Amino acid sequence: MRSITVLSGGVGGARFLTGLLQGIATGQLPGTTEQTQVTVVANTADDIWLHGLKVSPDLDTVMYTLGEGIDPERGWGRRAETWSVKEELAAYGVEPTWFGLGDRDLATHLVRTQMVEAGFPLSQVTAALCKRWLEPRFGDRLRLLPMTDDRVETHVAIADDAEPSGKRVIHFQEYWVRMRASVPAEQLVFVGLDQSRPAPGVTEALTGADLVIVPPSNPVVSVGTILGVPGIREALLERTGPVVGLSPIVGDHHVHGMAEQMLTSIGVEVSAAGVGRHYGARSRGGVLDGWLVDSADAAAVPVLEQAGIAAAAVPLMMTSPDATAAMARAAIELVS
Ligand code: GDP
Ligand code: CA
Repeated sequence: MRSITVLSGGVGGARFLTGLLQGIATGQLPGTTEQTQVTVVANTADDIWLHGLKVSPDLDTVMYTLGEGIDPERGWGRRAETWSVKEELAAYGVEPTWFGLGDRDLATHLVRTQMVEAGFPLSQVTAALCKRWLEPRFGDRLRLLPMTDDRVETHVAIADDAEPSGKRVIHFQEYWVRMRASVPAEQLVFVGLDQSRPAPGVTEALTGADLVIVPPSNPVVSVGTILGVPGIREALLERTGPVVGLSPIVGDHHVHGMAEQMLTSIGVEVSAAGVGRHYGARSRGGVLDGWLVDSADAAAVPVLEQAGIAAAAVPLMMTSPDATAAMARAAIELVS
């Protein structure tokens, strides 16, 4: 296998990528060699401007995780982080105070913002940042691409009696980070998504890769937004090689995060089978050839096969890079 492309959100996608890359490096993945190229197409609909800075949470989570700069406990942000700037901003009473802007992390946002304001597209900015984080470890065998260079933001409508409309629309980060997704998401609005275009290299990475993997990322606000960039679904339908995914829902619940709230808000059943059917079989206009579910969800296998999707049940908890490499192996075997 010369090339694999992965559609990634933040923490779930980054953990999966750690296992995939370890599996490739240790020769555990059938068909891959040390030369196998991995391209990550990452969600950018979580991006937000804060205090004049452009923040790209999912790009940074992937970059820091694979570059070993991540805080391993939190799963996001920099290790050995300090919070002086955040404290100083709060002392000025400057909103928002709920977003975790660490001092080390701020350097990344400063570089990104300067480059964006100098006219560089996000894809080139990301490549420049990855020279520090990814190139020393992976050379040109790993590329990180934003799904689009265009501005796309996920917003969430929540109930608010204080508003005449009874609703208030907030940025996804406010819904998730400040509110901990504690109230129902009445509606999701993907601002700019319909007008966005795939970033340079994305379409080719989808049509040309020997294998495309949909990792256990959030199906709505991570993978769903990537698939919402006009042209990306078409590229997946057009390709000849397989697309295989792994369920982020285990035993009818998400493992971390807020996939349950997001699936509910778009009317998709919160189950491994529900998410697989939501993505749909590529042979029937969807995006998947194969879908791995957790051993706890073995009953979903015949349901998925009925929907035209090859399926198997294996342990899907990413408890270690080795356990995750075994998941990647099972995914490859499912569609080989
Ligand atoms: P985010 O952008 O940081 O929210 O990360 P992603 O969208 O990439 O991934 C979030 C998803 O990962 C959630 O829906 C989780 O249920 C899923 N997830 C996290 N850890 C695991 C795990 O160990 N196993 C499985 N199957 N899913 C996981
Ligand atoms: Ca995210």
